[in-house]
Amino acid sequence: TSAAKFQFGVAGMGVMGASLALNIADRGFKVAAWDRHPEKIDEIHAKHGHPEMKGTGSLEEFVGMLERPRRILLMVTAGAAVDQMMDRLTPLLSPGDVVIDGGNSWFQDTQRREKAYREKGLHFIGMGVSGGEEGARHGPSLMPGGPAEAYALLRPVLEAIAARAESGLCVTHVGPDGAGHFVKMVHNGIEYADMQLLAETYDVLRRGLGLSADALADTFTKWNEGIAESFLLETTLKVLRKKDAETGKPLVDLVLDKAGQKGTGKWTVQVSLDLGIPVPSIASALDARNLSAMKDERVAASAKLPAPPLTLTAEEKANLISWAHDALYAARVVTYAQGMRLIQAASKEYHWNVSLAEMARIWRGGCIIRAKLLTPLREAFTQQPDLPNLIVSEAFAPVLTKMAPAWRQLVGTATRLGIPVPVFSSSLAYFDSYRSAELPQNLTQAQRDAFGAHTYQRRDKPEAGFVHSDWS
Ligand code: NAP
Repeated sequence: TSAAKFQFGVAGMGVMGASLALNIADRGFKVAAWDRHPEKIDEIHAKHGHPEMKGTGSLEEFVGMLERPRRILLMVTAGAAVDQMMDRLTPLLSPGDVVIDGGNSWFQDTQRREKAYREKGLHFIGMGVSGGEEGARHGPSLMPGGPAEAYALLRPVLEAIAARAESGLCVTHVGPDGAGHFVKMVHNGIEYADMQLLAETYDVLRRGLGLSADALADTFTKWNEGIAESFLLETTLKVLRKKDAETGKPLVDLVLDKAGQKGTGKWTVQVSLDLGIPVPSIASALDARNLSAMKDERVAASAKLPAPPLTLTAEEKANLISWAHDALYAARVVTYAQGMRLIQAASKEYHWNVSLAEMARIWRGGCIIRAKLLTPLREAFTQQPDLPNLIVSEAFAPVLTKMAPAWRQLVGTATRLGIPVPVFSSSLAYFDSYRSAELPQNLTQAQRDAFGAHTYQRRDKPEAGFVHSDWS
């Protein structure tokens, strides 16, 4: 093996692995790279030629190149590949070495893996990485979870490569074991909902007002200069501007209306059900993608189930754009609120002690859900770390109250026109449920007692505890 003079190792030269390795090398660290197809490393060298980076297809040689304690970033497909790589690395490592999984792994896998490595005297860090290929190459948002002493060993490298935002470096020690991957999963769940809100906005304005892709891009450009500013809004307006080279049409019009997914959104909803924390905005976004996949059925159904006429009142025509702006902002706040609440619940359940203010800080740059609203959101959780719900904070309650009428108008108009707005409407239902002192679950509980003797509590006699009645 060659002299141990490399400071950092990256295993897996896929899209994200190659970009992160180059980013680390750019910051002056000597990087050892490994891939099961070493010709990939030659391609990277041919394209980017980096003197600080050297690759090999031999895992033994790769591990031998690294100074100790070793720092190895695994950037392989989430799932079985991570376990395989960990097993292959185990006999080659020494006590105190750190292995990081930078993929989108299920947080309970990360908890299991961290424990297994700890019992062997090794360190394991599960790290969420956001920002796509571009972020990985020039500044991602990093969400590492695992032992604090292992994080301390990684910190100089992670701080060197992370995005720099007005809020500081977009990396922090999220918490122990699976905390980082959990937070990344929720980040992706919020991303699903925010993307769907933008799609619904596009649909209502396109179909309702007949706006062209360019006109929509102009509107979104204006919005992006104000409080609604976000990376996803900016991405949306870029997408809307793009013309197809062949036909000259907006490229978005040529894209088939079926959306794919890789699983982090689904996990967010599954875990929310396990923890009993509602995230209806994220669940509706997931359902919207699943419904979009039923293209053939939708085409057949459109012939049998006619839409209402697309006629707008003068008031709707004059106000739809400004209603959509306020609705987008308000529904987005509610979506982030649900995600934060889910992280808070998991942090309690697993004793992670995650700082929501810190999550807002490291999401301010580099990641896909970076948005201007994260600044007041961070402020709210700084002032009250255990804030039960963002929507009642001083920073957001007055804004939501002010924007709610426009939000209701948007959902009302879309509903009347038969344009589906699942995330706008489920977010509004969440908002209205949460701000309701009275909900109709008195009837639900009475029904449960009537058919199943599930008992109920009386408002007028709380001291009586759970009672049962004969409802016949
Ligand atoms: P990718 O381009 O498909 O790269 C995956 C790499 O893993 C490939 O080099 C692949 O090698 C290697 N690999 C797969 N199974 C392996 C095994 N059993 N042993 C060794 N190597 C193996 O994927 P990616 O986009 O870089 O994503 C990597 C991870 O980051 C995923 O968990 C993904 O969810 C996450 N992530 C991706 C993004 C993004 O924007 N792309 C953003 C954040 C997080 P072969 O080519 O030889 O199969």
